[in-house]
Amino acid sequence: RKWVYTFGDGKAEGRAGDREHLGGKGANLAEMASLGLPVPPGLTIITDVCTYYYENGRTLPEAMKKEVLAGLKGMEEITGRGFGDTTNPLLLSVRSGARTSMPGMMDTVLNLGLNDETVEALGHNAGDARFAWDSYRRFIQMYGDVVMGLGHESFEEILEDEKARLGHDLDTDLSAVEWQHVVGLYKALIEEELGEPFPQDPLVQLWGAIGAVFASWMNPRAITYRHLHAIPAEWGTAVTVQAMVFGNLGSTSATGVAFTRNPSTGEKALYGEFLVNAQGEDVVAGIRTPQSITEAARIESGSDRPSLEKVMPEAFAEFRSICDKLESHYRDMQDLEFTIERGKLWMLQARSGKRTTKAAMKIAVDMAAEGLIGEEEAVMRIEPSSLDQLLHPTIDPRVERDVIGSGLPASPGAATGAIVFTAEEAVAAEEEGRKVILVRVETSPEDIHGMHAAEGILTTRGGMTSHAAVVARGMGIPCVAGAGSLRVDLRNEVLIGAGVTLGKGDIITIDGSTGQVLRGRVAMLQPELSGDFAQLMDWADRTRRMTVRTNADTPTDARAARSFGAEGIGLCRTEHMFFEGMRIQVMREMILAADEEGRRRALAKLLPMQRSDFTELFEIMHGLPVTIRLLDPPLHEFLPKTDEEIAEVADAMGLEPQLLRQRVDALHEFNPMLGHRGCRLAISYPEIAEMQARAIFEAAIEAARETGAAVVPEIMVPLVGLKSELDYVKAAIDRVAQEVMTEAGLQISYLVGTMIELPRAALRAHVIAEAAEFFSFGTNDLTQTTFGISRDDASSFITTYQRKGIIEHDPFISLDFDGVGELIRIAAERGRQTRPDMKLGICGEHGGDPASIHFCEGAGLDYVSCSPFRVPIARLSAAQAAI
Ligand code: ADP
Ligand code: MG
Ligand code: MG
Repeated sequence: RKWVYTFGDGKAEGRAGDREHLGGKGANLAEMASLGLPVPPGLTIITDVCTYYYENGRTLPEAMKKEVLAGLKGMEEITGRGFGDTTNPLLLSVRSGARTSMPGMMDTVLNLGLNDETVEALGHNAGDARFAWDSYRRFIQMYGDVVMGLGHESFEEILEDEKARLGHDLDTDLSAVEWQHVVGLYKALIEEELGEPFPQDPLVQLWGAIGAVFASWMNPRAITYRHLHAIPAEWGTAVTVQAMVFGNLGSTSATGVAFTRNPSTGEKALYGEFLVNAQGEDVVAGIRTPQSITEAARIESGSDRPSLEKVMPEAFAEFRSICDKLESHYRDMQDLEFTIERGKLWMLQARSGKRTTKAAMKIAVDMAAEGLIGEEEAVMRIEPSSLDQLLHPTIDPRVERDVIGSGLPASPGAATGAIVFTAEEAVAAEEEGRKVILVRVETSPEDIHGMHAAEGILTTRGGMTSHAAVVARGMGIPCVAGAGSLRVDLRNEVLIGAGVTLGKGDIITIDGSTGQVLRGRVAMLQPELSGDFAQLMDWADRTRRMTVRTNADTPTDARAARSFGAEGIGLCRTEHMFFEGMRIQVMREMILAADEEGRRRALAKLLPMQRSDFTELFEIMHGLPVTIRLLDPPLHEFLPKTDEEIAEVADAMGLEPQLLRQRVDALHEFNPMLGHRGCRLAISYPEIAEMQARAIFEAAIEAARETGAAVVPEIMVPLVGLKSELDYVKAAIDRVAQEVMTEAGLQISYLVGTMIELPRAALRAHVIAEAAEFFSFGTNDLTQTTFGISRDDASSFITTYQRKGIIEHDPFISLDFDGVGELIRIAAERGRQTRPDMKLGICGEHGGDPASIHFCEGAGLDYVSCSPFRVPIARLSAAQAAI
């Protein structure tokens, strides 16, 4: 078998496509070499050796060593130098390279092959002893740090002391003799600390450095990075050994990094930095301030230090033409590393450049216009979830942040406002036109109106699926949740953070994209939804098969969703309307009524309120489909809990608090999520469903008359497990429909369907479909009921499950394809057996999750429905799924 792939002199054994074995760096070096670009010759040891290394007690295969030596011969021939040769030495760089670039891996070792003899030859041949000793001290420092594990600080200390002693400010001020002295100090340090001398044998150095790269695959930094980015440990890293070229050979030499387009704006302009007489990481390390590559960028930055274009026009011209060549070859923006040795340009790395979402959009649209890529490919280039960044205001990256604490980035975007501690204060502030941040320990359904009124939400307790997080994401309001380093003291109405105590009315800013909490007001960047964004969305819309609807309970949500391109409402949860303002009182009256009489009296008061809600939604959606779900949650959710609340409600209802407490207790359930809820309520209290149906039909007729659009309401019955349940509720709905239409003298069409959120419903879909005209997969409950995991209690153990590798993803965030997905496929297939033209959709949180949307495409659903701010993400994901 073959362990080593060589490249150089216009040829290469590997290709760009083989990142799996060569790693990203090795694969692209091979590709650039075969394109005939100036790449120093080298060889890449494949990732399989990394696997071998760990399976064989951290040893390297002998056969690989032979291949490395053979490859080294080739490099010697191409360069005309000898590895370890004391008259014309070949020096090497040893570089790590995983499949995807991995900061946190081993640092590169440069100038390998230098020792007390070769350093003299290097200086002699270059005619520059200072350069040789500078290279040697760099090598000892890197090798001492990376391979021998001494830590670079000890070397830096020595250098700083020397500079102080000699009165030099910059590294570049040191002379050859002075560097030689530093080398002596470095070597002494190694002997003293490690009890062994710095290795003089170049081959010992080489195997040492190669082994260190493989060992670094398992260093804690690399493990953490892989964990964060879901990179499997089995991938392993490759090692590239390459002939050195020198950017530190005086004023005609330089080293730099560049992007072929601007990575933050996407603008088509070469963008980068370089340093004269420098090596390796000097540019990024910030030791000296680097200079602009192009004259245009220099002028824009206002710098008076010359650009590369100016100081080395020939090398620059060649570099620019290589940039163009690489862009059109890879058909993507490139991130490049290069070095110029005495005027001669060398390419050291190419990869697809990381970029902001804004830049990604511009580059994709521009490249499609340039004919480099097609429209579908442009659509594929954007990571759907990255759109989140674009849809909300963000903190201007140039401003300074006065961070007082941080929590989870629970709902993206940034918001500034005055601190309030209660939902009521938030509502009052909104009425007065003041902007506030609602600060709570945690939130509950009673806070909904206050959450809506706030610019942002901050909680000190709770996770990514806490009430605050889920509701805020749904509303598109920035939220930082579980900021444990902050403390809310409700009694004194203060928020206590790192060294500060803030009171009600003090201004804070939250960054829901990073989880930071900042003191004061900061400059923001507003979302930009026209231009490139609109163009890409347009291409996406032309490509996708599924339609995208929204989950919207309020006119505000519905309008936002329309502006993001929603094509209807897939889920309107009617219960949310009952929490608003005075309504909760009437709702409580209804629930606590002693008999049907009393309930009907309260329902009669709710009817006009519901009707006006629905009318507004129908008008906003202007003929687009609107799915309204009948009352779903267990009734106790609406009831007062504390003694104070009970006293208040009892007073309003003219009841004894004692009696009210008894009724509330009577409604208590041990497991309310599996209790008296969903269609079970409509069966126990048909008058509730009848009132809701009447509100829906009256509103539809009114909206149809107002707008002239054909309004087709879709009424959805929740939590059906038996066909007979649906039959019963549907009969009531149909009866009301006839009554209303007769009264109004206008016929409209409507659909009655059900949510599929119980395994039994999925399995009996062919039977249920006899009564249901559509199915909507309520995957929050379906996941809950399929796993038997309570969604509200999952956070206490799901993360443990993930950490211990029991499950990979949280099934409440990304659909469980194997189990829940299987039930969806079964239900879709069986439903359509009975009713081939049946409309199928999804309305759980998964409807806005890109991976879940891919699944829905495969399962043949007609639409996905998600919260308003995820609509663009869903449009793009649906397009990508269809390509
Ligand atoms: P990273 O993975 O951190 O990008 P690299 O392997 O690209 O590390 O090495 C870092 C830097 O070292 C390069 O940007 C380049 O400046 C320098 N370098 C690497 N190999 C060589 C070489 N053969 N000749 C000159 N400089 C090199
Ligand atoms: Mg690099
Ligand atoms: Mg449900």
